[in-house]
Amino acid sequence: MLDKYEPVIGLEIHAELLTRSKMFCGCRVVDSVEASPNSAVCPVCLGMPGMLPVINGRAVEFAMRVALALNCTVQPHNIFARKNYFYPDLPKSYQISQYELPIGRGGWLDVDLPGGETKRIGIRRVHMEEDTGKLTHLGDGRSLVDYNRSGVPLLEIVSEPDIRSGEEARAYATRIRQILRYLGVNSGDMEKGVLRVEPNISIRPRGSQSFGTRIELKNLNSFRALADGTDFELARQAAVLEAGGAVVQETRGWHDGRRETFSQRVKEEAEDYRYFAEPDLPPLFIDDARIERVRAELPELPQAKERRYREDLSLSAYDAAVLAEDRAVAEWFDAAVAAGGEPKVIANWLINDVFRLLNERGTRIEASRLTPAGLVELLELLERKTINAGSAKEVLAEMLNTGAAAPAIVAARGLGQISDAAALGDILDALLAANPGQVDAYLGGKEGLRGFFVGQVMRQTRGQAEPELVNRLFDERIAALKAANR
Ligand SMILES: [Zn+2]
Repeated sequence: MLDKYEPVIGLEIHAELLTRSKMFCGCRVVDSVEASPNSAVCPVCLGMPGMLPVINGRAVEFAMRVALALNCTVQPHNIFARKNYFYPDLPKSYQISQYELPIGRGGWLDVDLPGGETKRIGIRRVHMEEDTGKLTHLGDGRSLVDYNRSGVPLLEIVSEPDIRSGEEARAYATRIRQILRYLGVNSGDMEKGVLRVEPNISIRPRGSQSFGTRIELKNLNSFRALADGTDFELARQAAVLEAGGAVVQETRGWHDGRRETFSQRVKEEAEDYRYFAEPDLPPLFIDDARIERVRAELPELPQAKERRYREDLSLSAYDAAVLAEDRAVAEWFDAAVAAGGEPKVIANWLINDVFRLLNERGTRIEASRLTPAGLVELLELLERKTINAGSAKEVLAEMLNTGAAAPAIVAARGLGQISDAAALGDILDALLAANPGQVDAYLGGKEGLRGFFVGQVMRQTRGQAEPELVNRLFDERIAALKAANR
């Protein structure tokens, strides 16, 4: 049914900023789940008459980071505006926001789609505002209100309606969250509501230039809900139009259990909010020097890291994406490469062994006792054949546990690899002499028996023999036996 229609989707993303204090007062920003209700409030964020707001400079800087990372033009002239509406979680009866003059405009973000192609999504605007309080409905007709969240700095990122499916919406939102984390401005925790994603969704007949009636979707607490809710809504609207009906402009919620959307309220138009310039705040001027300073301090962003890992370090696309996923992991990896490690070898050990050990211990790499230089030192012992791969894994686990250096662990545990050809040859000769039946079977074509002989040597050396050397010695002896039998 969707074949006849073109989906038109834009995303509004609200991100609470990780500042210490609120947007317009000195109250602390506290965890909305753990802090006791109404413990971080003051007359300003409670909307008492006559109180004057003051702009949080750190929040402005965080907003600039995001605007620049999303390729927006940072506006030198910013005006805060009052967005007027009444709701019990908004004690002032207006929200201080930005309307006509937002901090960032005209940006874009490239998004990787599952098919391997890249799509550029326009960013219409990035603006600063304050969050509202939080209502808890008890279900017996009473509701509780917590103003801890009232006045917390909030950034709204509005995309152009360039998105065409639930999967594209998910890919875009996932990338935005990753960038916000890289910039250190938001934790990305959707469960706690510090990141909220709300799509505007409409459909129109293919080839049409005008837009259909759009609905806004809320209550999405995961990226999966975003993708599924968007696709459900597209199909619902197509069914409405096919049945000869009309889509109603409204806000709809996503029911995670029933996996369907439901009507919440008829959507307000912008003019209903009677925006006007906030008289209690002066215009905010941002000069070029400040913009360039923030731009210069931006970290290397995830997409640039992925590209560098692929093109300069020759990592696979998969490895590059895994390592760049989290900034702390990427910077740890960068430090290991800077310490002289071979990029591909470090990537393999990180992804296969270090991540598994960290998972088992429930810890993160930046909090572990393993250092980038420490891992490089371990891998050098392996490269020089001082230890074999099995021992290296054992040493790695102890490095994570105790923080001790690899050479010290190798010495203390007697894990040095046995690369003495004469000693290993003696063990092998004894084995061959003790198992004439197996030797005959091997010579007769049962090549799997190589594993038996090599395994026996490894066991007798407590895993410390150099496996490549044992294999080579085995081949030499078999060749000699074949020559003797000829
Ligand atoms: Zn306050």
